[in-house]
Amino acid sequence: MNELLAAYRYTTNNYAQIEASTTCGCCHCVQIFKPADIVGWTGLTVENIEDPKAIAAQTAMCPHCGSEAVLGDGCGFPINAHFLARMNEAWFQRTMIHRHKAKT
Ligand SMILES: [Zn+2]
Repeated sequence: MNELLAAYRYTTNNYAQIEASTTCGCCHCVQIFKPADIVGWTGLTVENIEDPKAIAAQTAMCPHCGSEAVLGDGCGFPINAHFLARMNEAWFQRTMIHRHKAKT
């Protein structure tokens, strides 16, 4: 599998992975920060707020831009400006503008 594609999977449901990381980065705004800087998480509702599985499956929001595009070094990929720039290019500059043709 393409490493960028593999890394992108870690940007969702990544609470446990971020908790195990020492450095995090955002693939959208390309900022690098500490896991403790993350204050926003998505995925919990009033129904599952005490469910440990749901807690572990939360998705981190970037403290700088709010994107759900945070990677932690606990996923095994390098968190540095170069790697984040490649992720940004792949997912926000190029891939995101590829759309399926509308069915007629
Ligand atoms: Zn960001």
